[in-house]
Order: sequence, then structure tokens, then C-alpha cells
Amino acid sequence: MSSKPKVAFFDFACCEGCQLQVANLEEEILVLAQMVDVVEFREVMTGAAPAYDIAFIEGSITRRADENRLKDIRNRSKLLVAYGQCAVSGGINKLKNRRPGMDEVKKEVYGDSAGMPHLDTYPTKAIDEIVAVDFYIPGCPVNREEFLWVVKELLLGKTPRLPNYPVCVNCKLQENACLFDFSIICLGPLARAGCGAVCPANGVACCACRGTVDNPNKNAMHEILLKYNYTVEEIKKKFDIFAVDPEVQSGKK
Ligand code: SF4
Ligand code: SF4
Ligand code: SF4
Repeated sequence: MSSKPKVAFFDFACCEGCQLQVANLEEEILVLAQMVDVVEFREVMTGAAPAYDIAFIEGSITRRADENRLKDIRNRSKLLVAYGQCAVSGGINKLKNRRPGMDEVKKEVYGDSAGMPHLDTYPTKAIDEIVAVDFYIPGCPVNREEFLWVVKELLLGKTPRLPNYPVCVNCKLQENACLFDFSIICLGPLARAGCGAVCPANGVACCACRGTVDNPNKNAMHEILLKYNYTVEEIKKKFDIFAVDPEVQSGKK
């Protein structure tokens, strides 16, 4: 019997893009296979195990029935890692919580079939709204190199330290033109780096899909908003895309 740590991957409500990142590790997946025994991973294998050293959870909780499944996984896992922004904050699934009521959401999606008995009115929840989370890997999707690095750090018994500086740092180092100068609101000044500023480098505003840095400099952000004639409300709407609240996200690392 293998003595390697047992690792499992689980998905809840999501697009499965984060587990695809893991499945697409290419030659690096061999490195992962040398380090751990992957005992459950619905997207790439069959099989199950009674307990895990690390459970990786993708997706958010959007049905009452999923609460018990998640609690059961937690009870059988030494470490539980929320990976991908759906799991970390609720992600884009949480947009539905901003609607006046869940019945309205059901009607919009299912129309005349909104009364189907299996559809409940449960709001979207992040993983740590149901169970304790030991570590978070942010992003939509996660960065696969960062994912592999986090696994290695956890296996060594370390606490991985994610980049704790804003996307603007990477953006400036790449000498990109700032999108604010093109009348585009960008969350780069508060967003957690680690993605190589991939969005602004391609002319697209950062929406903070990796959450914020630990102590976001809100005063500096206010100065930028004033300079470019934007309001705090406008920037809050951008943070809503990935359900990021700078007041609480800063603790997720
Ligand atoms: S975080 Fe993004 S890529 Fe990952 S599962 Fe959610 S929606 Fe898909
Ligand atoms: S484009 Fe965005 S990330 Fe780049 S410097 Fe401007 S605010 Fe910062
Ligand atoms: S630039 Fe912003 S939105 Fe784009 S990947 Fe990086 S953190 Fe996410």
C-alpha cells in the first residue's frame, strides 16, 4: 500500500475550469503523481477513498443538499483547500444573491418550469460559510503553476504565502499603459497579484478575480477615483463580479 499523502478533488457549483487547470498540468502532472496518491478526481478517474490528507474543493454551495456532502468531506479530510474563486468567495455564482429574491432568480432561469420540486431557493455560499477552510487558492481560474507550488508547500508542512502586492506592480513592470487613462475602471490597485497582470496587459480591466491584497490601500484607490471622476459605487460594482469584499477578503490567504 502506498504511503504517499492521499489527495482528492471535489466539485460543487462551478464551470469546472479550475479542475481543468489541474488536469492540464501536462508533464507537471507526473510531478504531482510522484508526490501524492490522487484517490478521487471525478474529471479524470474513477475511484473513491474513505479519508484524505488534502481535499481540494472547487465551486460554491448553491443547494441545501450540498451542505451535508461538504461537511462529510471536511470530516474525512486532514486539510481542506478551497481552490478557485467560486470556492474562495462564492465567485460569479454569488451574483444571484444580489437579486431581490431567489424566487425571481428561479423564474428568470427556468421560466414556467421554476416550480420543479428539486429547485430550491438557497443563496450561493462560499466554502468557508459552511466548513472551516485551511488554505485558499484564488483565481478564476486558478493559475496551475501556483496550484502546483501550493501543493508542494502544503506537503512540506509549510503555509504557502501568496503574492501580497497589487496587480498594478506587475502591470507597471511590464510598462503597460494604464487603463484609467483610457476611461476604463481597473481594480489593479487593490487586487492581489500573481497572474502576471494578464488582463490589463491585454487591454482588459482587472476585476480582482484573485481577491485583494491583505491590507488594500483604499486611500490610494480613492485618490485614483477622484482623479478620474469615478465614484466608490462604481468600483464596488466591479468587486461584485467575483463577490470580493475588500473588508473581508483580506483575511483569505
Ligand atoms: S473559479 Fe472560475 S474557472 Fe474556476 S470553477 Fe469557478 S468559474 Fe470556473
Ligand atoms: S491598468 Fe490597472 S493594473 Fe495596470 S496600472 Fe492601471 S490600474 Fe494598475
Ligand atoms: S488581472 Fe485581475 S482579473 Fe485578470 S487574472 Fe489577474 S487578478 Fe484576475
